[in-house]
Amino acid sequence: MIIKTAEYSISSPTVGQCPNDTKNEFAFIGRSNVGKSSLINMLCRHRGLAKTSATPGKTLMINHFIINKEWYLVDLPGYGFAKRSKTVQQKLEQMIAGYILQRQQLVCTFVLIDVRHDPQLIDREFIDWLGESNIPFAIIFTKADKLGIVKARAAASAWMEKMRDRWEELPPYFITSSDKAIGRDEVLDYIESINNE
Ligand code: GDP
Repeated sequence: MIIKTAEYSISSPTVGQCPNDTKNEFAFIGRSNVGKSSLINMLCRHRGLAKTSATPGKTLMINHFIINKEWYLVDLPGYGFAKRSKTVQQKLEQMIAGYILQRQQLVCTFVLIDVRHDPQLIDREFIDWLGESNIPFAIIFTKADKLGIVKARAAASAWMEKMRDRWEELPPYFITSSDKAIGRDEVLDYIESINNE
C-alpha cells in the first residue's frame, strides 16, 4: 500500500466519543516505550504524526489518524506503565477494553512487542484476553535493528513458539525496525489485504 495522506483526526477519552464513521480501523497498542509512536511515524512516513516522546506513556486517549482518507490508524495508550497511579491505570484499562470490545469498525489490533524482551506477563495476559474475547489481532515485534535482523527473526519465532502452549493457531506476526524502516511493506500490505476483503 502506498500512503498518500496521513492526518491526525481526533483524540477521544471514551469509545462513545470516537468518530461517527464506518471506515475500517487498525489499532496499535503495547507497553510504554515499546516503540509505538516511532512505528506509526515510520509506517506513515510522517515524523511528527504520533509524537515520539521521551516521557513514556504520554498518550492517554484513543487517537485516530485518517490514512489515504480510507481507513483509520488508531493509537491506543501504552499499558503497564508503573509510574501511573492505580486510578489512572484502571481508567485507561477500561477505556482500552471499551474501545477494543465495542468498536465494530476495529478490524485488527496490532500488539507491539520489543523483540529483545522475553515474554512478559502483562503482554501474555493482554494477548490471552484478546484471544478469549475473539478479537482479531497480529503481533508486531519492534526494534529489530537493536538485535540485527537474523537474531531478531530467531527471537520472534522463539516468542511465537512459546505461545503454542496456549494456542492452537498462532496469529500473524511482523518484524520491524522504525530506525531502518524494516517491515513497513509487510505491515501495510497486511492492512491492505484486510481492507480489500
Ligand atoms: P512509545 O512509548 O511506545 O510510543 O515508544 P517511542 O516510539 O517513543 O520509542 C521509545 C524509544 O525507543 C525512543 O527512544 C525511540 O527512539 C526508541 N525506538 C523506537 N523504535 C525504535 C527502533 O526501531 N529502533 C531503535 N534502535 N530504537 C527505537
